[in-house]
Amino acid sequence: MPELPEVEVTRLSLADRIAGARIESVRIGKPLRWPLGLHAKQLVGRTVSGVRRRGKYLLFDLDEGLLLLHLGMSGSLSFAPAAAQAGAHDHFDLVTSRGMLRLNDPRRFGAVVYAAGEDSPEAAKLLGRLGVEPLSDAFALEPFHAGLKQRHAAVKQVLLAGDLVVGVGNIYASEALFLAGIRPTLRASRISRPRAEKLRAAVRDVLARAVAVGGSTLRDFSNAQGESGYFQLQAMVYDRAGEPCRICGTPVKSIRQGQRATYFCPNCQKS
Ligand SMILES: [Zn+2]
Repeated sequence: MPELPEVEVTRLSLADRIAGARIESVRIGKPLRWPLGLHAKQLVGRTVSGVRRRGKYLLFDLDEGLLLLHLGMSGSLSFAPAAAQAGAHDHFDLVTSRGMLRLNDPRRFGAVVYAAGEDSPEAAKLLGRLGVEPLSDAFALEPFHAGLKQRHAAVKQVLLAGDLVVGVGNIYASEALFLAGIRPTLRASRISRPRAEKLRAAVRDVLARAVAVGGSTLRDFSNAQGESGYFQLQAMVYDRAGEPCRICGTPVKSIRQGQRATYFCPNCQKS
């Protein structure tokens, strides 16, 4: 599943290339998770002024309105100078004066939704409940610690919920908790201020490094299709059940939390 770093690298890979492009045509394949919300023809003639990211949404700002794009479980974007024939899993093409933006999404949990503005009801429905951006200054210790104090669920579930800080998916939550030395099952409300600071720093560190690793492979990225996650960091614990911890050698443990696999080192993450 594409996580925040992959979405950010996708943004970096195409933002400069598509900015200023005029929409010439739109092709829609099979239905995605949500409908576009306006007739595709109404987009023709509009200009893409830039691409931003909010959580795992890409926001394509138009000279009138914006498109919110989510990659869902299996989506990937490509941007090619010329239009190529659509394959079975290509469900949205935005043909522009600069090239064609194509969404390939075999499982079709992704979506492209039009909104009149960022504060409009259709955008607020998708963006309104998102927590702060982990790589922004808004992800500060005081509000983060105060938020943890109010939540009695396991800290990993609180990270995944996305309302305190957005975009920390399953892989990065396990990795950040390992770096911070916090047991994933610990109640969020029991985390002290110094440990909250460790966790905040670890979340930023693991996401920023993943963006940096992905960014370094940008040259290949324009050709990549359906290979999200290929630039993942060397994991400390994720997907390493039974293997020795890279710090202390204790076998990494795997448990289920809310239907998702969690990995941790019982020795480095005692509580
Ligand atoms: Zn260990």
